[in-house]
Amino acid sequence: MIRFLDLGPATEEITGEVAAGWDEVLRTGRFIGGRFVDGFERGFAEYCGTAHAVGVANGTDALHLALRALDIGAGDEVVVPTNTFVATAEAVVLAGAVPRFADVDPDTLLLTPETLKAAVTPATSAVVVVHLYGQMADMDALGRTAAELDIKLIEDAAQAQGARWRGVRAGAWGSVGCFSFYPGKNLGAFGDAGAVVTSDREIAERIRSIRDHGRANGGHYQHDRFGVNSRLDALQAVVLGAKLPLLDGWNAQRRELADHYRRCLDPDGAKLVTVAPEAEAIHHLAVAQVRNRDKVREALLARGIESGIHYPTPCHRLPPYASYFGNGALPVSEAAAERIVSLPLYPHMTMAQVETVAAELNHVVERGAAA
Ligand SMILES: *Cc1c(COP(=O)(O)O)cnc(C)c1O
Repeated sequence: MIRFLDLGPATEEITGEVAAGWDEVLRTGRFIGGRFVDGFERGFAEYCGTAHAVGVANGTDALHLALRALDIGAGDEVVVPTNTFVATAEAVVLAGAVPRFADVDPDTLLLTPETLKAAVTPATSAVVVVHLYGQMADMDALGRTAAELDIKLIEDAAQAQGARWRGVRAGAWGSVGCFSFYPGKNLGAFGDAGAVVTSDREIAERIRSIRDHGRANGGHYQHDRFGVNSRLDALQAVVLGAKLPLLDGWNAQRRELADHYRRCLDPDGAKLVTVAPEAEAIHHLAVAQVRNRDKVREALLARGIESGIHYPTPCHRLPPYASYFGNGALPVSEAAAERIVSLPLYPHMTMAQVETVAAELNHVVERGAAA
């Protein structure tokens, strides 16, 4: 049996430190805020190379609060790639704005300047760039394009904690970077959690206020703006603080395993997503495009090998988005959704397991994948 993802070994590495931290939280009763939340926020900002990090309840809220802090809402359109997890588009709707879906590059399956420009209208005020699968979108070109179009750039780095583009981390390129710490992410909590990073002090302060009922100036019952309750809690901050120093090592292990997939898979059958030379990917997912995807998954499962699809339906084809925000066909994403398969990958997987998965896949895959 080869599991798609096994969180057990990573959890084991930190159980001692988590137990000690949780014991302190229980003894002191500081369940909201406190030194573990502050400490993780400082550590994560430093890790990302930004001046500020603000912990929030989950990745969807990170995006939602980032948009609100940038004053994006009713009357605004926000471009998002259709090949992403639904939360990217959902956050735009939560902020009161309208998502405009963009297609992606056939090799990286990420947003490009061309697909961004094709989706822009006069009402567009921002773009959410998604570093899907732990890759990096071309931040030089997309940054330039966003500046030319005079729209704000927000990064959805939910799958890219620690990834770099020309040495600069995901989240540090846009006005704001948004992270999820859902348990299965490369940096995952023991429940839901998220964060927003930025080097703009005013934006950071606005997000701190919005996540806490619009409180301002330390006044418990002074509410200067409409807010929500979306705080990172102390118990999750203990977990994240214990994991953060191990993240680069885990990401390096994922990179070695992903490189091994690339060596072992027959490129004429399985076309792995392309990583640009400027990018240091963290391989949240190992995604290949194959022609006979459903047959491949069945054959793998018959040998006890789990796999996934990220994602089976592009956002613009999901019922609520198609009916309210449909903006036509996006052929590259639609074709890719029929061919993508996510192979098992997590830091504690072995090279031998990668070889087993690759051998099985090479055996059943239809050739001519490059087409
Ligand atoms: C996980 C994820 C989110 C949402 O994060 P949650 O913590 O589950 O709310 C947003 N965008 C992408 C690309 C994700 O993978």
